[in-house]
Amino acid sequence: MMIVPVVVLLALVQCSSTLAKFTLGGQEFESSEDIVKSGRVCGTKQLTQEELTRYEEEFVDAYSKQEVDIDERMLSGIPIGGVPQRMNPHTIDVYWHVLQSSAENVLVSDEVIASQLTVLNAGYASALFQFNTIAIERIIDADLAATIAYGYEADQSIMKTLHNVDIGAYVLNIYVVNIQGGAFGWATYPRDYRFKPNEDGVVMHYELFPGVLENPYDLGHMLIHQVGHWLGLYHPFEGGKCSRNAVGGGDLIPDTPASMEPTFGCSESLLSKDTCPLIDGKDPINNYMDFSDDDCTNQFTFYQILRMHRQWNVFRDKKPFKLVG
Ligand SMILES: [Zn+2]
Repeated sequence: MMIVPVVVLLALVQCSSTLAKFTLGGQEFESSEDIVKSGRVCGTKQLTQEELTRYEEEFVDAYSKQEVDIDERMLSGIPIGGVPQRMNPHTIDVYWHVLQSSAENVLVSDEVIASQLTVLNAGYASALFQFNTIAIERIIDADLAATIAYGYEADQSIMKTLHNVDIGAYVLNIYVVNIQGGAFGWATYPRDYRFKPNEDGVVMHYELFPGVLENPYDLGHMLIHQVGHWLGLYHPFEGGKCSRNAVGGGDLIPDTPASMEPTFGCSESLLSKDTCPLIDGKDPINNYMDFSDDDCTNQFTFYQILRMHRQWNVFRDKKPFKLVG
């Protein structure tokens, strides 16, 4: 009689442990915590404090000189000078480049890409950005596909130089690849375009596309995250310090609560997560720019949206901008 409950208990523990495991990029992970702490979730470049400060000064100077700045009133529709203002939404042309080792190894079908686009558009609907597929290119190149296995550290300048659609900073190139090492996705920042236009865009592991595999990021939200970087957003925990300004770290966004470290998982216990208790607000666990499981991410804040539109106007819009250097 004593043995039966013990066996049942062991079975339950084993079961829940098995369920939590998943394989991504050829590596087995024990949990969401495991994958976040592996450093593989996002490979977008971490700026040094000096870079962050300098780039921000340059950006603020650029948009403050624009004849019509996108300001808070234009987002909210509040009248400026008696005239109701409403910011125009942007629809961004997207070129998908799927890097395949063979014609048969499609990684993601056109239907999965369409599904990912739907997720992307849903994520950006309130931000007044939408995305439109112009073309899906399937690159059949086993040698090139093998180089991607090295991940972010090697960068993909060859792939991008060969296949980037460079008709302007306003076009989004998304590279769908099979990454066996390194991060599962990364993006270039808007400012980077004028220095390396051929390398502009987002690289994503195909296993993070919606419905491809079962893992914490299987709803397609990590592409929303990477496009957030492509539109000029940082992580809320950027710099690993409790601050929102460029001097002390943080994401430079006034309405994302400060946080020290990325979130992992998606559970009710996260509601009380507060890694910067001396600053108002709990950690932004539902923000697309955090690392929470896809189940948990569902929002950009007002000032993130404002920043994305200002970044767009300064660095990506079709009209030329006047930055020097
Ligand atoms: Zn990121």
